[in-house]
Formats: sequence, C-alpha cells, structure tokens
Amino acid sequence: MKSNFVFIILSAFVLSACHSATSANKNNAVKENAEKTKDSVLQNTPAADLATILAKKQVPVLCYHHIRDTKPTDGPMSRTYSVSPAHFAEQMKALKDNGYETILPDQLYKYLLYGATLPAKPVILSFDDTDEEQFSVAYPEMKKYGFKGVFFIMTVSINRPHYMTKEQLKTLSDNGNSVQAHTWDHHMVTKYQGEDWQKQLEQPKKKVEEITGKPADYFAYPFGLWNRAAFPELKKAGYKMAFSLSTKRDSTQPLYTIRRMIVAGQSSTPAVLKEMKETFHLD
Ligand SMILES: [Zn+2]
Repeated sequence: MKSNFVFIILSAFVLSACHSATSANKNNAVKENAEKTKDSVLQNTPAADLATILAKKQVPVLCYHHIRDTKPTDGPMSRTYSVSPAHFAEQMKALKDNGYETILPDQLYKYLLYGATLPAKPVILSFDDTDEEQFSVAYPEMKKYGFKGVFFIMTVSINRPHYMTKEQLKTLSDNGNSVQAHTWDHHMVTKYQGEDWQKQLEQPKKKVEEITGKPADYFAYPFGLWNRAAFPELKKAGYKMAFSLSTKRDSTQPLYTIRRMIVAGQSSTPAVLKEMKETFHLD
C-alpha cells in the first residue's frame, strides 16, 4: 500500500515536472527515485485476500534464544531455551544438507500478500532477546552456509553485558540479516495500557531503525503472547507483520500471528527437523 502511494506521489511529480522548462535535472532525479522505489512484485499486483493468505503453504519459522551449553544449575526452562553451539552447528548443516534456504520477513510478507516466489524449501531462522552469543556463535555458523536470520531485539538490553551492542546489530544488518523489534523490556503485549503501546511498540521500532538505517516493520510478541486488542496498535505503530510462537494463527489477522517453533535445547537434530515438518505441514 505504502509503496503504491509513494509511486502515485512520484508519478504526479514527474507529470508536473514535465511542464517546466528548467526541470530536466529534477526530472532525471525523480525518474531515478521512481526506479529505486519500483518493486516488480508490489507494483501492479493486488494484495491477496484473507482466504488466499490462509490457504498458502506455510513457511517454517524456527525460534532460538540462547546458543550456549547448559550449566548444571540450569532448570528445565533454561534447558529448553538454550541450544548448545554444537547442536546449533549440526542443525545449520542439516538444514543445508536437506536443501533448505533461509528467507527473511520481507520475503515472507511479499509471498503471503503479493504471491512473490520463494525458494523451493524456505525457512526463517529467528532469534529473540538480543543475546550476545547470537552474534558471536550463531552468526558465524550461519555464514558458512550463506544463511541469514532475523533478530528480534528488546531495546532496553542493547549494549548491556551479555547482550548485543549497537555495533553488532549494525554489522548483522549490514551483512544482509534482518534486525527487528521485540518490545522495550519484554513485558507481555496482553497487559499493555495507555502509554505502554508507545513505549513498547513505537519507540523500539524507531530505535532499531536508528541503529540499522533500515525499516523495522516486523515484531515478535514477548512469550509469543498476543490478543486481538494488539492488532490495531501494531498497525498504528507501523508494523506489517507480527510473530507469535506455538499458538495457531488468528483467522482474521494471519499476518499479525505468524507462527514460530521454539527449537528446544533438549531436541536432537533429526527431532527438530521432524517437528518442523509436522508443525508447518511440510511435505
Ligand atoms: Zn523474548
């Protein structure tokens, strides 16, 4: 929608500029800009309706938190949320060996809404909560296979010990990964009222955009928890899609309830692949 709107504005400018004798340079600059905003997928393709989006083959989205070995003191929750570096390396290799190619939220959005083509076996690797080892351990491992990921950041944690720095986030973004928002301080969306929406949705989006210099159009719900009251607020804040965890998609707002699967630290690599196929109904 936004891109069509920009295109209309630009077209109007081109037309009016044509009537001015002194506007040759301006006209060229406008043409160049129009060229830059042109997107063959979005330009002349109407957005898909709800039924079409719901009927599309799902893209598996994996969700990681810590990439580290567990400590003897770790409880069951911590063990679930911690995938060892060795397991992570094994999982990346297994995805590659099984023909998977990573895609990013922008591609998923264009696929769901405008029918853009995806690789035969697409997968999204997503990372929550800003953990430093996502940069120092996961990112180098992914690079071996040309994989890219999406990193959902809670902005309060940036530059804190054991969390990623601004520079690391910028490096991820500059190298083709996607850096997106995961609230300010991880409070659950279902509890927001008043100024919380601005503090947890609007400001983190701006903060991430300031760091990367790119749009942060996607959001991940803390704990995967959402309710319908959040949808208009997410739209108002400018988010185009939101990611949950294991809950089913909302039949009225599938773009704001994109399903993900937590890769449990206790699962073997074959078990992860099997669970992924079952969860997302893959062939
Ligand atoms: Zn989280």
